[in-house]
Order: sequence, then structure tokens, then C-alpha cells
Amino acid sequence: MSYIPNIIFLILLIGSIGLFVSNLLKIRRNINLGKGETLEVNNSGKRFKNMMRVAFGQGKMISRPVAGILHFIVYISFIIINIELVEIIIDGIFGTHRVFLPMGKLYGILIGSFEILALLVIVSVSIFWVRRNVLKIKRFLENKMMGWPKLDANLILYFEIILMFLFLFMNAADAPFQEMEIGNPISGMIYNNLLVDIDNLHVLERIFWWSHIIGIFIFMNYLFYSKHLHIFLAFPNTYYAKMEEKGKLNNMKSVLNEVKLMLGTQDNDSGLNESSENIVFGASDVTDLSWLQLLNAYTCTECGRCTEACPANMTGKKLSPRKIMMDTRDRIEEVGRNIDKNGSFIPDNKKLLGDYISNEELWACTSCNACVQECPIDIDPLSIIMDLRRYLVMENSSAPIQLNNMMNNIENNGAPWPYSQMDRLNWKN
Ligand code: SF4
Ligand code: SF4
Repeated sequence: MSYIPNIIFLILLIGSIGLFVSNLLKIRRNINLGKGETLEVNNSGKRFKNMMRVAFGQGKMISRPVAGILHFIVYISFIIINIELVEIIIDGIFGTHRVFLPMGKLYGILIGSFEILALLVIVSVSIFWVRRNVLKIKRFLENKMMGWPKLDANLILYFEIILMFLFLFMNAADAPFQEMEIGNPISGMIYNNLLVDIDNLHVLERIFWWSHIIGIFIFMNYLFYSKHLHIFLAFPNTYYAKMEEKGKLNNMKSVLNEVKLMLGTQDNDSGLNESSENIVFGASDVTDLSWLQLLNAYTCTECGRCTEACPANMTGKKLSPRKIMMDTRDRIEEVGRNIDKNGSFIPDNKKLLGDYISNEELWACTSCNACVQECPIDIDPLSIIMDLRRYLVMENSSAPIQLNNMMNNIENNGAPWPYSQMDRLNWKN
């Protein structure tokens, strides 16, 4: 008996898991380039519930029933069908074939259910493809969505369809050799129409088996280059999502630090003893953002629900909250590649603010929170916009003239209007 297939399988398995883990660690390192985040630590129960509702239960997707239901079918089916992977991996390592077949009726029920789910995935994913490529839905047509983002979205759809077909064809080519107590509903039909000599079916089954598992290894590692990373990251992202009321802005720790340093009231163990030269007000680059904001950027699915709900975008302004998230992710990836190449970050004369996101985009935001409300996985584009704006105001003194006038008026008159406090009673005129 030749062990060569088992050895090849083991090499592929270890190699793809190794690559997966190494990519995961790179993303973790990139996310940790962000600053600390103050999270309420005592509500892990509430956070867990939110994660189960939003990430696992897809609670916010259902606000658009058609896309929501189709997405749910693909997601749940994919998870369930992948149970089959356990058997494939055992068979691959030990050279067995359908090691769980002795489970009898239960095995037949499982494989039959997987096949029905695989068919549902093919149908749902095909509808997604039509929505993206034929129906020309406006939110998929933004400039930022052309080129790689569009190709990436389509590639994943093709991947999913091909993997499901390989699974069904693998079962079909194996159908006459397995005595399942319950027949294969879909692969049975395929087998009846396979115009292949029974003597060649074994070869065909091996081809589909290997193609299917190699396809899964490729798919798993492709995710790191794709917006589909949200399959994994949606869970931590929704767990750590902001739990406070949406309108509440976070206090700037840097301002608090500065005031405490001036008053000499900083605690010795509070970490507030940073020299004021190192303090940055707001954010100009990804490393000034918090790790949670960077996790948000990696998790973004590029669905565009935020942009569709954004009043600034609706009225023709340049702002798109989806683009804010995509730019943040592109920039952190660029910083990560710089570190990979040089061992540590070598300044590249680029910043998130200016090179990726313009002042015009930032000042178009009304801070209405519609984008945060609409996001199906609790991403907060507004917090990044606010931190970049804070930098513009507090570090660059470059707020729009109307805002500068208003801030001067508040400073001088105690109100946004250009009238003296002494004339307060005349304001009504
Ligand atoms: S908060 Fe800003 S970016 Fe978000 S929807 Fe409102 S205007 Fe658009
Ligand atoms: S931020 Fe949320 S709503 Fe906006 S594109 Fe990303 S996942 Fe979709």
C-alpha cells in the first residue's frame, strides 16, 4: 500500500494551516499597532449576547430580508457542510475512505442534508452574482468598488460555487460504491446523468476529492487578501463593539493627560506621565487610531449599507463611510508590508489623513451616526472620522472657516453667534 497520497495530503494540510496561522498573526500584529482602547470590562455577558445576535445570528442583516435571508443560508450552510471536512481530513491522513460510513442511517441523513444545503448555497450565491453584476445596484458601483474590490467579491462567489459543485460531484462519483441507508438526493441525480464508465468512476472520484480539499485550502488562505475576512473577524468585532449610546463621543485621553500633566495631578500608575511631545491629539495615521478601529477596518465587508444611508453621500458630497473603512484597511496593510520588508516601520512620507482621506470628505460628515446604525457588523466609521477631524482642529488648526468663527464666538461670547453677551436680551430681535 502506497503512503504517498497520505504524505502529500499531510504536507498540504500542515502547509495551509501554517500559512493561515502566519497570516493571522500578521493581522493581529497590524491591529495591535493601534492604541489602547477603554472598554467597559464588566459587561462580558452583554457583549457575548451582542456577538451571538449580530455575528452568529446575523440580527442586523435581516433589515433587508432578501439579501439577509440569502446571506444567512450561505453562512449557515457553509458552516454545516464543513463538518464534512472532519471526515475528509481523517480519510486524507489515514488513507481511509468515508470513515464515518459505519454510522449508518445517521451518516446518510448528514450527507443528504449537506447536499441539499450545497444546492441552496449554489442558488443563493448565483443570485448574489446577478445582483452584483447584472442588476447594477448603486451601492456596488462606487468608484472605490471598481477593480480589485469587485474582482474580490466575484472571486469569492466563484469559489463558493465551485467548492459546492466539487462536493456534489465527489459524492456522485462515489455513489455506486457506497451502500448508504439513505440515498444522496442531489449527487444521486448527478450520478444518473454522468456519462462515465463505472470503471473510471474511482479515478473521477479521486479527482473531485483532491480538487475539493485543495480548493478549501486555497479558499481558507485567500480570505486574508479579501474582504471576506469578516467570516472570522465579525465575532471579535461585535464582541468588542461600542456598547454606549450612539451619540456619545469618547473623551480624548490625550486631552485628559495634558490637563493632568499641567495640574500635576497625574497618578503615578496611570500611564499618564508621557512627555507632552509624544501626545497626539486625534489621529493623522492608522497608528494613532485604536486597535478597535483597526479591527473594524479589517472586518468591513464592503457591503455599502453605511454609504447608502449616509445623508452626506446622498446629497452628492464626496464622503463615503465605506471608503473611510476601506482606506483605513489599505493604509494599515501598507504599514504592515513596510514592517515585513524592513523589520520595523520606516517612514514612507504617507499618512491616512491626506494621502487616503481628504479634508473635504471629513468635513462633509454630519456626525448623524446613520452609518453606525446601518452596519450589519457594528462597525463605527464615525469614530475614525471624528479622530481625523480632531487632529485637523487641534494639531493643524485647519478647521473650515465657519467652524473657526463659531469656536471663536463660543470662546469670546459664550455662544456660537457673533454678538456680545451684554446684548443677550437683544438676540431675539
Ligand atoms: S455619521 Fe457621517 S459618515 Fe456616518 S452616515 Fe452620518 S454623515 Fe455619513
Ligand atoms: S462599515 Fe459596515 S455597513 Fe459600511 S461597508 Fe463596512 S460592513 Fe458594510
